[in-house]
Amino acid sequence: MARHFGEIPGVVVGATFADRAELAAAGVHKPLQAGISGGGLEGADSIVLSGGYEDDEDRGDEIVYTGHGGNDPQTGRQVRDQELKTGNLALARSHLEGLPVRVVRGAGLDSPFAPGSGYRYDGLYGVDDYWSDAGKSGYLVWRFRLRRLEAQAKLTSPTHVPPEPPKKIKTTIVRVVRSTIKAINVKKRHAYQCQICGVKIETPAGPYAEGAHIQGLGTPHNGPDVEENILCLCPNHHVMLDSGAFAITDDFQLLGLEGRLHLVKGHHPAAIYLGYHRGHHGFAK
Ligand SMILES: [Zn+2]
Repeated sequence: MARHFGEIPGVVVGATFADRAELAAAGVHKPLQAGISGGGLEGADSIVLSGGYEDDEDRGDEIVYTGHGGNDPQTGRQVRDQELKTGNLALARSHLEGLPVRVVRGAGLDSPFAPGSGYRYDGLYGVDDYWSDAGKSGYLVWRFRLRRLEAQAKLTSPTHVPPEPPKKIKTTIVRVVRSTIKAINVKKRHAYQCQICGVKIETPAGPYAEGAHIQGLGTPHNGPDVEENILCLCPNHHVMLDSGAFAITDDFQLLGLEGRLHLVKGHHPAAIYLGYHRGHHGFAK
């Protein structure tokens, strides 16, 4: 079954669960033991903070989360270096793709924000940075800084259960998550190769490309968020598309650059959006 990113319908922020089995059954965090739910190149959909790592820092809206591996499960102490793979790689991938992570806090967590008992779902966070560092025990750990997505209410004090965001904000978050996943689908179809230059950028967290809308999403363009309106581009060609440094004819010849748009089976940019983009940037319709 496909991994589900974003909120789980019917599970409100602040919902509590007696144990990991309940948490898993609700679909909030499926693994029964692992702290990170995620696949290396898919991204991480949820994490549980439960106090297993001595290097975790919890400031409520901001968390510095230690990746997994290399610790003694009894003491939480690091006994060897961590590696950027499995769940750690998944969190790095969430950073690269801008995917949201469901955060759950357990009662065992050494933090004022820990719930009194069981587990509590605390909403969606973004992985805004990650790095490797020497942990308290001197071994290398991977650290991930997570920030609560802006549109949600703040965690103001340890005992404060944040209110549900208004429906409009929730709808916006759902739409952004869907949009991110649509762009990822397009990028996967192209194996993360730029449709203009063919470059595929490799990073320690896997390949990187950008999903570029041909007819922009916001005003005044109001383009639709559909795969036929998205290209897989390197960052340079994304900027060049958005600024009208080149355009594309209905039969995929480039204007302003040499060559043709690279195409793959199953992804067909639509003429209506290419035409809009040409018109908007002063190319002949
Ligand atoms: Zn490119």
